[in-house]
Amino acid sequence: MSSLLHAAAAPTVDLSRVNLFGCTLAELEERMASWKLPRFRATQLFAALFARRVRSFDAMTDLSKPLRQSFAERFCLDLPRVDQCQVSRDGTRKYRYLAADGSAFEAVYLPEVGGENTNTLCISSQTGCSVGCKFCFTASIKRNRNLSAAEIVGQVVAVQRDVEPLGDGARLTNIVFMGMGEPLLNFAQVTDAMRILLHPLGMAFSSRRLTVSTSGIVPRLRELGDLARSGELPIQLAISLNASDDVTRTRIMPINKKWPLAELLDAARAYPLRPRRAITMEYVLLGGINDSDEDARRLPGLLQGLTCKLNLLPLNPHDETPFLPPTAARVASFQGILRRAGMHALVRTPRGQDIAAACGQLGEAV
Ligand code: SAH
Ligand code: SF4
Repeated sequence: MSSLLHAAAAPTVDLSRVNLFGCTLAELEERMASWKLPRFRATQLFAALFARRVRSFDAMTDLSKPLRQSFAERFCLDLPRVDQCQVSRDGTRKYRYLAADGSAFEAVYLPEVGGENTNTLCISSQTGCSVGCKFCFTASIKRNRNLSAAEIVGQVVAVQRDVEPLGDGARLTNIVFMGMGEPLLNFAQVTDAMRILLHPLGMAFSSRRLTVSTSGIVPRLRELGDLARSGELPIQLAISLNASDDVTRTRIMPINKKWPLAELLDAARAYPLRPRRAITMEYVLLGGINDSDEDARRLPGLLQGLTCKLNLLPLNPHDETPFLPPTAARVASFQGILRRAGMHALVRTPRGQDIAAACGQLGEAV
């Protein structure tokens, strides 16, 4: 079952005003100072928009009318327009957003993953991806640009507005940057968006429930580690490992030529983990390519010294990859070897495959 829930309308954008959905509290404080306004006005605006979810300047009744008017002249409250929402038979919802410049991007809402009242939103950081992994549909999208912090935060706000009225525990709890794009190639906007998502006066998500996934942009990964260490962004980390040796990894992920496994895993080891937390290693299983027993046997040694869990993702097929999914027997054997070696290895059941919403399928509709 797949349904279109939202009708298309003409995109609007206001370039003369700053989009408030993309402003961190620190940025707002700077703006207030430059306009000779007291600092607390920044907190007021920030909390009104994100914590109280006020939808217009008119509704910010704790501000005087002239101040509201002046803010309305300087800021806009544009959200990326959801022009399509498809609902999978497993309850997954895929949202397509249309930006004013005509580019499109997607986010995927996954209700109740793990049965712990955990509802996850998988968001995009770019409109395509230049990293070029050979198994990922997003890599085939030519029109790639970075999303702004407002467009990233806006994906979350738009989905909250859509799912919360559904009731029955439909509330976003977790956010993962595992949609379209490589988040660490859009570092400034992604980190600003995370500052807004985590701030207690902002969207107040828990840092334990916010994950960035990367293909391994090593210098940025180290920077992200610094932000985690300082306590500013102590978020969860996922790494798309996908191979047990450099030759195979370079074949399926060309980025490995620039930052090979040893460098990537060194950076991962340096990433500061809080107690009882682990890095997620994602491993897309490609039939006959990286799914052998030898591959599985190499992983424990490769990942030595890392507190991590492995997520095994059998390839989600699509037209843009030359690879095939692994057989069920291969998946079972691969997982068995890892488990017997004492590793925490889970096979992920794909969600939303019928609406092309599963990992690596995003972008087919854009
Ligand atoms: N660019 C980042 C964030 C995207 S996450 C990254 O690559 O980490 C998308 C995840 O889906 C990655 O772990 C990737 O390895 C996985 N993936 C990509 N294509 C896939 C496919 N066809 N089937 C299953 N998983 C896939
Ligand atoms: Fe980009 Fe990630 Fe897809 Fe690789 S897996 S092409 S890095 S989105």
